[in-house]
Amino acid sequence: MASSLRRKLTISYVLIIVFSMVLVSLLASVFLEKQFTQYIIEHQEQENQQLVGLITQQYDSVNGWKSELVENIGINALQNGLIVKVRDNAGKIIWNARVYNNGMCQDIIVHMSQNMYNRYPNWQGEYKENSYPVMVDSKKVGTVEIGYYGPFYFTDTDIAFLNTLNKISALVGIISVLIAIVLSSIMAKRLSSPISRVIKTSRMIEKGNYSDRVDVKSNIKEINQLTETINTLAASLEKQENLRKRLTGDVAHELRTPIATLQSHMEAMIDGIWEADEERLKSCHEEIVRIGKLVGDLEKLTRLENERLVLDKTTFDISELIKGIALNFESQFKAKGVNLSFEEKRTEITGDRDKISQVIINLLSNSLKYTPEGGSVEVCVSREEDYVVIRFKDNGIGISSEDLPFIFERFYRADKSRSRMTGGSGIGLSIVKTIVEAHGGTIEARSKINEGSEFIVKLPA
Ligand code: ADP
Repeated sequence: MASSLRRKLTISYVLIIVFSMVLVSLLASVFLEKQFTQYIIEHQEQENQQLVGLITQQYDSVNGWKSELVENIGINALQNGLIVKVRDNAGKIIWNARVYNNGMCQDIIVHMSQNMYNRYPNWQGEYKENSYPVMVDSKKVGTVEIGYYGPFYFTDTDIAFLNTLNKISALVGIISVLIAIVLSSIMAKRLSSPISRVIKTSRMIEKGNYSDRVDVKSNIKEINQLTETINTLAASLEKQENLRKRLTGDVAHELRTPIATLQSHMEAMIDGIWEADEERLKSCHEEIVRIGKLVGDLEKLTRLENERLVLDKTTFDISELIKGIALNFESQFKAKGVNLSFEEKRTEITGDRDKISQVIINLLSNSLKYTPEGGSVEVCVSREEDYVVIRFKDNGIGISSEDLPFIFERFYRADKSRSRMTGGSGIGLSIVKTIVEAHGGTIEARSKINEGSEFIVKLPA
């Protein structure tokens, strides 16, 4: 069963910490104990040597052994677990711990062996005796025999020390695990909460709530990329949705006027209020043509938007293309009395020839539409770095600064009544923009009311 990221992360962190702590404590205790044992063995030998040295000092070269002092040292050693026997050179006993207190000697050995068995159940130890010569002025004056539980033994203090050591490492382990749980839960929360937020937002988007955004900032790069992607997705869906809503509204709005006009005209003719003469039928026909054009433009735009990525690219001379289109427009320009000038200059471009033709046709027909008699339209092509720039400049009616930012939007017409008269549907520039952007280019409009307009198309060469 899938569990939450936070839970998974916390468990993994804790497992790692527990594992490392167990490993560290195990290694520490093994090595520490080994070191400690080594220390105990060396210390034992040192202690023996010290004891022999101390006993040696109790020999007087004139009066021989001072047995009371030897006894003091022996008793003291016995209390530390060492069973001492001192003999003179002839082998005669000076002092013997077993004679002094055999019961205590036995007790000590049993106690030490118990200490060792408690710690190491398979311990194999036994009573050992080491013999050291007592040398005074390079002459042997006696022997010290030191008996102890071997090969080494832990006193009660040693055992207490080892136990404390183990307790400390267990405590460190527990504290580390607790800290790990807290830290890992904080870390996991930091990681999982933005992801949860992304999931929540995605669900909202799924339900059609496109205005929701992920607002959490993380210090993890991938999380930030994820939230950015979701936000971009939401923004683009929101834009699409708004566009779709507006388009439906706009289409209805655009169709309502001509259909209402047609309906009232027809009804008047049917009711006999109006005579169905040529002029009235012509007017009805014009409305139908307008509706047809609008539907045709819409179809074109929809098709373009659907297939915006499918460009049938070839390399061709844009100048020659413009020249051909200008030639087709020549009679219309002449009829209106508008001068069209274009200077041909061979410029290669890679793009969809048919779609770029559409751009030129729309812009040229706009220039013609919005330039009154006696005006002039100038088209020129130039190369600027990696772009081919086509400028359409006219000295026509111009566009006001309030309208300028919206002219590329669908159905937007700067002056509704006037453009209705010119037959405009407000889609031409939307088509132009869609095509230019599909090519990776840009379009810009500069205009001043009553002075003229300039449309600058930049297409990657
Ligand atoms: P239309 O079919 O109405 O011409 P467009 O999308 O081609 O639609 O243009 C949108 C609006 O931009 C037009 O209605 C017009 O007001 C304005 N416009 C476009 N080109 C020019 C121009 N060369 N001079 C003045 N206004 C223009």
